[in-house]
Amino acid sequence: MNMNFKATSSFAETKDAADELKQYKSRFHFPQVNNSDTIYFCGNSLGLQSKNVEAAVLQELQDWKNLGISGFLKATNPWMYYQEYFKPTLSKIVGSKPDEVTVMNSLTVNLHLLMLTFYKPTSQRFKIIMEAGAFPSDQYAVETQVKHYGFDPETAIVEIVPREGERTLRTEDILTTIEQHSGELAMVMLGGINYYTGQLFDMKTITAATHNTGAIAAFDLAHAVGNAPLELHNWNVDFAVWCSYKYLNGGPGAVGGVYIHERFASNPDTPRFAGWWGNDENGRFKMEKGFKAKANASGWNISTAQILNMVSLKASLELFEEAGFEKLRVKSVDLTAFLEFLLHQLTNLNFEIITPAEPESRGAQLSLYFKEKGKEIHNKMIDSGIIVDYREPGVIRVAPAPMYCSYTDVYRFYEILRDNY
Ligand SMILES: *Cc1c(COP(=O)(O)O)cnc(C)c1O
Repeated sequence: MNMNFKATSSFAETKDAADELKQYKSRFHFPQVNNSDTIYFCGNSLGLQSKNVEAAVLQELQDWKNLGISGFLKATNPWMYYQEYFKPTLSKIVGSKPDEVTVMNSLTVNLHLLMLTFYKPTSQRFKIIMEAGAFPSDQYAVETQVKHYGFDPETAIVEIVPREGERTLRTEDILTTIEQHSGELAMVMLGGINYYTGQLFDMKTITAATHNTGAIAAFDLAHAVGNAPLELHNWNVDFAVWCSYKYLNGGPGAVGGVYIHERFASNPDTPRFAGWWGNDENGRFKMEKGFKAKANASGWNISTAQILNMVSLKASLELFEEAGFEKLRVKSVDLTAFLEFLLHQLTNLNFEIITPAEPESRGAQLSLYFKEKGKEIHNKMIDSGIIVDYREPGVIRVAPAPMYCSYTDVYRFYEILRDNY
């Protein structure tokens, strides 16, 4: 733990003054409580609106108003190529080649679509490994896929459970499970960061072990994208999906994202469920028979780009590009360590941090398990203008997103906890 921290408000103010990214806070809108800005630690559920979003949305409305159909080629940002605009920044954020990413649909829909490409169960190889307590939507998607192919979820889905008395998974246990099911394993599908515990998995090692068995390595990056460092291409991950409304601040229900390794993405013969937007652009409007996939991740696009569902993400990514993801991560590691340091001062309080203590095993979020009064503490925070979320039984998730949270925000959370319990 960092011993250079101090549990005082003046220390927090000094840290804020020295923070190179401090100006970004003023570029966001904050929900109001009692006419003042709230402190927002819920960026892991719905990121805030950056102030450039409104003008960006109005621009698209204006172009639609003035141009009608010709907006596809003549809008300020021609709609025809809209998904292309995301590739440079998104590929930096997930660590891929630009041609390995695209935006489309939403997370769970994309998980289904990419499982149609990658999950090819046979009577020999049909098992999918997940973490126990995966996000419900992922569980439902995998359960119904398995059933769709006539397998029994009880045998086809292998859930990895923490050891007795532990809250998070050990990498060695994940690797052992992969090994144990080796001959029957079709796919490993884990959250890059578990939404509940905040544990960041060692995706590189897990991918290598999965490939050793001949199975597909897939990750749901809902809580990892825009939060933790990712190198999907170098780690050799087969595919990944994410939503854009958490740390990426794309807005409620914003368009989702996918990554498909180029060894599959560049091959138009890789199986998929297709639509005209994934067709080679030169032929798209010829309305001919025979799907010819684009030779990159965009070949999985199905429908016309949903401009109004993409525009706020486009605006938000400009801030990531400007701030630089590496700098955001450096601040994030320090900010979360400061939160952890402060929480460790509260030795008389009956709670436990269930998120791993090592920075390389977590993102911004710390999950606090309160053996009692969790809901009460949560309510107190909300009344005090601090937005955090609560999950039964007794877990408060605190996610200081480095883009718009300060050291003083974190200190304030600590102060309320200290003075009220
Ligand atoms: C937020 C989240 C989802 C949400 O999926 P949608 O299809 O966007 O509603 C799914 N999986 C995980 C792991 C999440 O954290």
